[in-house]
Amino acid sequence: MISRRRFLAAGAALGAARSFGQSVPDLLPASGGRRVVIVGGGWSGLTAVRHLRRLAPELEVVLIDRDAVFRSLPLSNQWLVERTPDALVQQDYATAGQAWGYRAIQAEVTAIDRERRRLHTAQGALGYDWLILAAGIRHDYSPWLGDDARAIDATRRLYPAGFLASELDALKRKLAEFKGGDLLMTIPPPPLRCPPAPYERAVMIAWLLKTRRIKGRLILVDAGGGMQRFNRVFAERYKEQILHLTHAPVKSIDPFRKTLSTEFDELKFDDAIIIAPQQAADLVWQAGLIATDAAGNPDGWAGFDPLHLHAIGDERVFLVGDLLGRASPLFGHYPKSAHMASQLGRIAAAEIAARSRGKLPEIALPESICHVYTDVEPPEMMRIDARYRLRGDGLITQAVRQHEDPQPRGEDRQWAQGLYKEMLAPLAAK
Ligand SMILES: Cc1cc2nc3c(=O)[nH]c(=O)nc-3n(C[C@H](O)[C@H](O)[C@H](O)COP(=O)(O)OP(=O)(O)OC[C@H]3O[C@@H](n4cnc5c(N)ncnc54)[C@H](O)[C@@H]3O)c2cc1C
Repeated sequence: MISRRRFLAAGAALGAARSFGQSVPDLLPASGGRRVVIVGGGWSGLTAVRHLRRLAPELEVVLIDRDAVFRSLPLSNQWLVERTPDALVQQDYATAGQAWGYRAIQAEVTAIDRERRRLHTAQGALGYDWLILAAGIRHDYSPWLGDDARAIDATRRLYPAGFLASELDALKRKLAEFKGGDLLMTIPPPPLRCPPAPYERAVMIAWLLKTRRIKGRLILVDAGGGMQRFNRVFAERYKEQILHLTHAPVKSIDPFRKTLSTEFDELKFDDAIIIAPQQAADLVWQAGLIATDAAGNPDGWAGFDPLHLHAIGDERVFLVGDLLGRASPLFGHYPKSAHMASQLGRIAAAEIAARSRGKLPEIALPESICHVYTDVEPPEMMRIDARYRLRGDGLITQAVRQHEDPQPRGEDRQWAQGLYKEMLAPLAAK
């Protein structure tokens, strides 16, 4: 949970954005038409931009991302341990923009002025008629490291989580160079991007230790009780490689002394993968779009209209992907999966296309499918499906089903290829 001080600082940043005024130079010349800007070229943003071009070709569409290239987090766990010959799927935004007819700009969006419908970057400002915020998540180290900027910087640099695409290369290097000893990985409390991902990664790392005969073990410091299927695999097949500490919420970490404290233990580690608690991306805070709980405290995630995906009280701003807060009091958050993010991007595109023609869009609910490896050799998989329905009283209900797949035949890759076709340029979607 964010401290009140940080929340107020975010509010101050919003005030600063409001005071920017019109004096900031424009990033693009005015087109004369109506413009949709999408901030964030991940799974939700890339799908939204593609469907907007299809559904409303008369609108000008601009995608902004701080990076030049999209990289896929799904399928990355196998790539991290070189279990797959496939390269990590990536695509530069300029090529995708050329293929689908939108403009892609590489820039960090620093502020959103919702009153004037303008967003700000270091290179200039950009007006919008509709905005889709698809900026993903941020790590919140404060519960474990307080406000110690040096410790936060060291943790980010030395012990990358591999939960943002920008962290993947450093994590891969770390695993390739690991020679033995205690490698610690934290699993924070929910809500979490792709909740099975840390367990799938644990199996991959354990397999790596076992097959390369590395004298080391993975210590999983898990805030929760784990996932039944994985707990069994850890206990039965990777007893020597994995020590799984369940119900062990982290109290503090000292990245310099390489120690981690829980309520019960102080653990020393040789190396670590610190997956910190997660929240909606910085920009959502800056834009004043974080939901508050009954006591008025920020709950860390974007507040939104669950049936139309626009911000509360602002129908010009749509929110999609992992940054979303509670969708329903019946189950809380939608699963933070790429499939879900992509579906939400598609729904937001349909909303804006309909509104741009003065129509009220039909309500559409998303779904989620997630394939995850539960073992490596021989491979075993699990598929988690979540479906949604609108109940008579207007609340969304959720039904989740888990299927075991003891003989997978590349279903994860087929699933990913289907979505890549929707979001990447045709050549990249082999
Ligand atoms: C290891 C791992 C494995 C996973 N495996 C699966 C899987 O098998 N199946 C599945 O369904 N899901 C999986 N997921 C989850 C999936 O990756 C996420 O749900 C998905 O990436 C969410 O998409 P998004 O669009 O919300 O955010 P992201 O994909 O994170 O995209 C956000 C984008 O916003 C940009 N951005 C942020 N702030 C700014 C700013 N201020 N200015 C400019 N740009 C900005 C970022 O650069 C980024 O490109 C996995 C996740 C992890 C970590």
